[in-house]
Amino acid sequence: MYSLEDIRKEFPILGKEVHGKPLIYLDNAATTQKPLCVVEAINQAYYSANANVHRGVHYLSQLATEHHEEARRRVARFIGAPSPEGLIFTRGTTEAINLVAYSAGEAFFLSEGDEILISTMEHHSNIVPWQLLAARRGAKLKVIPLTPDGQLDMSAYRSLLSPRTRLVSVAHVSNVLGTVNPVEEVTHLAHEVGALVLIDGAQAVAHTRVNVEEIGADFYAFSAHKIYGPVGIGALWGRPEVLKQMPPYMGGGEMIEKVSFEKTTYNVLPFKFEAGTPDYVGSTAFSAALDFVERLGIEAIAHHEEELLAYATERLLSEFPESYILGTAPHKGGILSFGIGKIHPFDLGTLLDHMGVAIRTGHHCAEPLLHSYGYEAVARASFGLYNTREEVDYFFEALHRVVPMLL
Ligand code: PMP
Repeated sequence: MYSLEDIRKEFPILGKEVHGKPLIYLDNAATTQKPLCVVEAINQAYYSANANVHRGVHYLSQLATEHHEEARRRVARFIGAPSPEGLIFTRGTTEAINLVAYSAGEAFFLSEGDEILISTMEHHSNIVPWQLLAARRGAKLKVIPLTPDGQLDMSAYRSLLSPRTRLVSVAHVSNVLGTVNPVEEVTHLAHEVGALVLIDGAQAVAHTRVNVEEIGADFYAFSAHKIYGPVGIGALWGRPEVLKQMPPYMGGGEMIEKVSFEKTTYNVLPFKFEAGTPDYVGSTAFSAALDFVERLGIEAIAHHEEELLAYATERLLSEFPESYILGTAPHKGGILSFGIGKIHPFDLGTLLDHMGVAIRTGHHCAEPLLHSYGYEAVARASFGLYNTREEVDYFFEALHRVVPMLL
């Protein structure tokens, strides 16, 4: 296990005070804080390697290109992709899913009544792009129900799959329930009926080792900012043989081979899906974040977060008998979504904030999921690699102060 004391020094923001109290940052599922090496990678890119990439013959452009393409190889390696060919930089998970919904939609949704399968636990960014596709192509959106503890109902999933299913898209880890889904099995079953599979890895990459080859899915989407990297960049990995059949998502520079007013031909993968100047600064910072995570070890991080989750879960249930938890699957990422009696989560979050504790409240961009449990909002504490047991203790001290005021 790494030294928490040393690691925390690499995150200057964790030393900040909020409302005169030390910050306790428990909103890591929304975004993670950034270590010095990531901020420094951004500085260095601007200080010493800033030029537009790919077409420049001059030294600086070639240097920036080298850094950007090295970052692509780094990100591909991190998720076990066999080559960087299928690794497309996007603005994040949301753009990655929209890219597939648009472009795979054009290529593979051929007749009215083709079906898309998602699950009840999806984030809005894994719902709305499919609704848009369904409206465009006359496709049907179907939804896999959950078991009461917040796992995919696999027998319902089996019966929803049919030869009409063109695509299945589910989260690897739920941002509300924390459930880790059996994505290999989901993929295997979908492939049996000839459907493509997209896995939304936004909440998974920072907490579990991802290997796209082992999962077997056709697409894997994630965001750098959830894994200690910069905001504004993420990745879509796609199986090259599938991506090659898909038309471009956006048109512009970089994604072309030749342009005339009569006809344009497209660049090879992955550039075909990267119109415009790419975020070559973000990509190098993304790569630095992955180096940082690898240095600590994803298994050590996962283990640490699981311990914090187990500790917080046990304390919540034993010290607040009127509390409830959304998502009680046996295998969870470090996410605790909860409520206490009739207290409105927003009030809880506001009072906790006054004590320096940052949690998230609301529907967490998963309104259908919350509604399926009969809630409009819940509170969510989510753990990152730098959180400590003492912080969890302070969180509970704060809860004991604020809960009696609100009950
Ligand atoms: N899917 C899940 C499961 C998420 O948690 C999030 C972010 N909350 C997203 C998708 C969207 O990620 P981004 O906003 O970085 O595109």
